[in-house]
Amino acid sequence: MSVIFESSRKGRRSMVHAPMGITLKEAGGRAILSDLPENALRTAPLPLPEVSELEAVRHYTRLSQINYSIDTNFYPLGSCTMKYNPKVCNTLALHPGFLGRHPLSPVDADLGQGVLSCLYDLQRMLKGLIGLPGVSLTPMAGAQGEFAGVAMIRAFHDARDDRNRTEILVPDASHGTNPATATMCGYTVKEIPTLSDGDVDLEALKAAVGPQTAGLMLTNPSTLGVFERSIREMAKVVHDAGGLLYYDGANLNAIAQRVRPGDMGFDCVHLNVHKTFATPHGGGGPGAGPVLVNQRLMPHLPIPTIRRGTDDEGRDIFRLTDASEYPQSMGPLSAFAGNVGVLLRAYVYLRLTGSNGMRRVSEFAVLNANYLMKRLTEAGFTAAFPERRATHEFILTLKNEADSFGVTALDFAKRLLDYGFYAPTIYFPLLVPECLLIEPTETESKEELDRFVAAMIAIRKEAETEPETVRTAPHTTPVGRLDETRAARQPDLVWSADTTRT
Ligand SMILES: *Cc1c(COP(=O)(O)O)cnc(C)c1O
Repeated sequence: MSVIFESSRKGRRSMVHAPMGITLKEAGGRAILSDLPENALRTAPLPLPEVSELEAVRHYTRLSQINYSIDTNFYPLGSCTMKYNPKVCNTLALHPGFLGRHPLSPVDADLGQGVLSCLYDLQRMLKGLIGLPGVSLTPMAGAQGEFAGVAMIRAFHDARDDRNRTEILVPDASHGTNPATATMCGYTVKEIPTLSDGDVDLEALKAAVGPQTAGLMLTNPSTLGVFERSIREMAKVVHDAGGLLYYDGANLNAIAQRVRPGDMGFDCVHLNVHKTFATPHGGGGPGAGPVLVNQRLMPHLPIPTIRRGTDDEGRDIFRLTDASEYPQSMGPLSAFAGNVGVLLRAYVYLRLTGSNGMRRVSEFAVLNANYLMKRLTEAGFTAAFPERRATHEFILTLKNEADSFGVTALDFAKRLLDYGFYAPTIYFPLLVPECLLIEPTETESKEELDRFVAAMIAIRKEAETEPETVRTAPHTTPVGRLDETRAARQPDLVWSADTTRT
């Protein structure tokens, strides 16, 4: 695939359209330019590609066709909740009144009350969903929500001058961001092992807890795709030792409107609205990771939050809080009110889905995962935790296939691309050998799930009869097997006119 600059030919133009009418000059552009200092003005025209409209359309349409997306195919990428996001959420979040608003605009009726009331309502809905009374929407990703949570736990202990708590307990089936977060907040991570049935080893937890325990970070459902059965006991053990409880809520799709982390005793929860509530997730962003807390942590919330008051005539007035109201706040984590576009999508999604709808979302997410797990195990695949009910995702281990046919989880994943499916997450979690972590989500039909099962069965047959086809897959994609380390460390992303391409 080339970059559009390579198609550039000097002087080539598309037809010039100016249907909407106003030119930069009429809009006062000249006046603005004349305000700029001489040395800030461009002396030569921008080196833009010179292509016809048709060339530009073809270039970008082709690019979009090479791109794999949920709009075209099944995307069972475990731990990521790659569900279909209703277009209406996007359309409403892109309303010109939202999109065109400058974040420094006044928050008066004309310019700010609309967006602030939406964000306030989102705060209210998230509090209800999680069962905790405090929220800040500002963290810009799940991992930043975690950071906010653990930093607040630290602030809580520090405020009480309880400074000998140096450890955070992290079960080894937690998401990798959990130990990373604890480390970034200056804690030592103490890893808690998992039992063979997928639950946290409660005895090991009891042995690890002590006066040095600042808290526990729990991913639930865990990355093993199971709901932690001893969760209440774990909460009690940690609280009794004076530690606080952090809930990684990125897997909320499995539990929304069924159980609430606040009711389980957790002090702090982060959500990934870009997984659960309608923002396409992937490629590293954009996202938002609101953080919810109980009374104990509320003084430390990141600012700003959205508050409601009333004006002289008793009408609602919404405003952003600042440091004067939260003297113990950990401070701002993002510019302005956070990633407002993503938050608005979540707001629209929750308003349209409603609480009954959200309950159906989690029911069908779990049903789809269990259906798929059942069909695949009936077809001869091995579930990593066959005795457990799946949550919204589950794990297959392809160790048998690797031993018998010399075809690995990676080979299966690559071959699935030829069959038109995005590959599930592979080799994560690290606890299960040759694993595929499969998350179908509630938005897939039974027919689509059946097609996926058929592809898996077909690949298994190939592994037996023509393993080389599987080992050298994919055969149909623009790129095949990348050197993943080199692609990450030395990405070839910059084009310049004198780059000679091979
Ligand atoms: C995705 C995920 C995260 C991290 O979220 P980001 O938005 O990618 O930073 C944390 N925990 C779990 C369980 C996740 O699935």
